[in-house]
Amino acid sequence: MAAEQLGFDGMPQRLYTCTPSRLNAWLDCPRRYRMTYLDRPSPPKGPPWAHNSLGASVHNALASWWRLPEHERTVEAAGTLVRRGWLTEGYRDAEQSARWRERAREMVERYVAHLDPTDEPLGVERTVATRTDRIAVSGRIDRLDVRGTELVVVDYKTGRHVLTSDDARGSLQLALYALAAARVLRRPCRRVELHHLPTGEVAAWEHTDESLQRHLRRAEQIAAEAAAADQGYRDLAHRSATRANPADPVDHTPYNGLFPPRPSALCSWCDFARHCPEGQAAAPRKDPWAALAEPNPPEPEAP
Ligand code: SF4
Repeated sequence: MAAEQLGFDGMPQRLYTCTPSRLNAWLDCPRRYRMTYLDRPSPPKGPPWAHNSLGASVHNALASWWRLPEHERTVEAAGTLVRRGWLTEGYRDAEQSARWRERAREMVERYVAHLDPTDEPLGVERTVATRTDRIAVSGRIDRLDVRGTELVVVDYKTGRHVLTSDDARGSLQLALYALAAARVLRRPCRRVELHHLPTGEVAAWEHTDESLQRHLRRAEQIAAEAAAADQGYRDLAHRSATRANPADPVDHTPYNGLFPPRPSALCSWCDFARHCPEGQAAAPRKDPWAALAEPNPPEPEAP
């Protein structure tokens, strides 16, 4: 549905408040979007994923490393931070968790060995936000560097999938971060980088003002569709009984028109698959630790 349909003639449109994750959730699967952001109480999720624990442990360790006094930012300190903050959820057993903790420690130490501890980032896990007359978008950037007179958005990746400059160029999330960082910090920000920790490779893209604006228009289009579905959900909720408690089964019937399921191979990794017959039919549920060994696993959720 077009953005223009959101407001009544002559009245201001409702501002759609979101994160890049919310926009991507709408694109991936409207049913999953509904269960994540609208259904209350939220349907219970499946068990935690080991790859998310690993991603969060690594992100936390790197953020903590940059918060250390400069003289304490050593390679060994980075390894210690991984060990100390290791999240164990989702692994098959203690042995598997310990093995991956050591791999993560080595990965972070290798990465940190190529950093200059005196090269102070402008922000670490920095929240930024921007808005247009249609959307208000915010998000947390893993690291915001200053290079010359410009800002650079740095996003850490811990999945096995090797990344290219196309991934950096096409990322709606990174483009919105760049726009929001430039707005909040009043400096140009066009370069976005994906730092792939398992290989140490950096996939980068230098946006132009035009390419950033294209991403912003795209975000507005996605937001307009999601906002129209959100409004439909509110209208339906006024008429139909919603689940009274989390144990009640999820009935998708009233919402299928607005929030259709989008079954795909990704259903194996969906937190809500157990509430979704179409998703279960599309792809078998994976073990919580399965992504650690997959050649093309889902990227861990940002912490
Ligand atoms: S299992 Fe698949 S189709 Fe069902 S909600 Fe999740 S992503 Fe969507």
